[in-house]
Amino acid sequence: MLDAGRHPNIDILAYSEIESVKGEVGAFSVTVKKKARFVKADVCNACGDCAAKCPRKVGDEFDMKLKDRRAIYLYFAQGIPAVMTIDKDNCTFFEKGKCRLCERVCQKGAIDFEQKDETLELSVGAIIVATGLDVFDPTPLTQYGYGRIKNVITGLEYERLINATGPTGGHLYRPSDKTLAKKVAYLQCVGSRDLNYCKYCSSVCCMYAIKDAMLAREHDPEAVSYIFHTDFRNVGKWFQDYEIKGREIYGINYVRGRVAEVEEDKSGNPIVWYEDTRKREVKSLKVDLVVLSAAATAAKGSDRLAEILDIRLDENRFVSVGDREPADTSRPGIFACGFCNGPCDIPEAVSQASAAAMRAAEMVLPEVSVASGS
Ligand code: SF4
Ligand code: SF4
Repeated sequence: MLDAGRHPNIDILAYSEIESVKGEVGAFSVTVKKKARFVKADVCNACGDCAAKCPRKVGDEFDMKLKDRRAIYLYFAQGIPAVMTIDKDNCTFFEKGKCRLCERVCQKGAIDFEQKDETLELSVGAIIVATGLDVFDPTPLTQYGYGRIKNVITGLEYERLINATGPTGGHLYRPSDKTLAKKVAYLQCVGSRDLNYCKYCSSVCCMYAIKDAMLAREHDPEAVSYIFHTDFRNVGKWFQDYEIKGREIYGINYVRGRVAEVEEDKSGNPIVWYEDTRKREVKSLKVDLVVLSAAATAAKGSDRLAEILDIRLDENRFVSVGDREPADTSRPGIFACGFCNGPCDIPEAVSQASAAAMRAAEMVLPEVSVASGS
């Protein structure tokens, strides 16, 4: 991201939305709404003095609302550009007409409550969609207790908990009583490969569950992990070795069995009921924490974006791309890569991005199309 931010040929329009796309390949006209941050981007140095004094607290979306942020905030520490934003919907001044404490605190004079949304018109030859994914909310799968049992969390919440920059500084404190979770169960295919929700395999959860269990052991040598799975889908290069390393070096217990239900005892410990399909037995296991590998889904707003771009989506709301030209959408000159096309891991997303960039270059740079024989 830093490299992209510094590159002389790349303009990053963060906090912006596409409103319309007209024209055709080689000559698209794109209308972009650049939303008001109420902070001057060329003045703010992200010192954070304003946020330290801002009285309004709201759940921090980047940290899965496991901690609070202020109404004036930086979405995440490494974000580009490093500029604060005032969250208009949660700011006392926009709500009640009083406060402006951030304005008084800012020594640089960066706050600008008069700032308005800007409309930009861009002329571009090709467009690449790379809008990523969202995570399935497992609340409807009531058997797992998400939202009802405090110590049942999603994989993404776990990622923030175990991250050194996260809400607990990387300590795996369980939500109910802030004690260290030492025995953790990871439940695979939550919403994925399920005809009622997402019927596809999300493709990345097997590997990230193994990685998460390894991290738990690296943080605490006494940590014990159980990964409940239907089957492992470790199809990438060295992925199988990674699974073996998880068992042999990190002591991860792989349990082939679909979990039927998660209950809670009086101390808030989750009890996992499952069928051990190897031993053909129904068993239960008391753990400190349950982590749900929730399905990865098409990003929110995919339908609206598809409408604006006039491109087709598939039945799961991923961008529909060609079989022979896997970066090409249904509209010439618009390409797509990464999870917005469907489940894929990071190496695959990077390959797809290279393909999309090459296809776009063929459209707009005559020398590239000659060299590649198009
Ligand atoms: S708005 Fe001002 S106080 Fe806040 S981070 Fe930017 S420079 Fe610092
Ligand atoms: S006006 Fe007050 S509530 Fe709004 S961002 Fe500034 S300090 Fe926070």
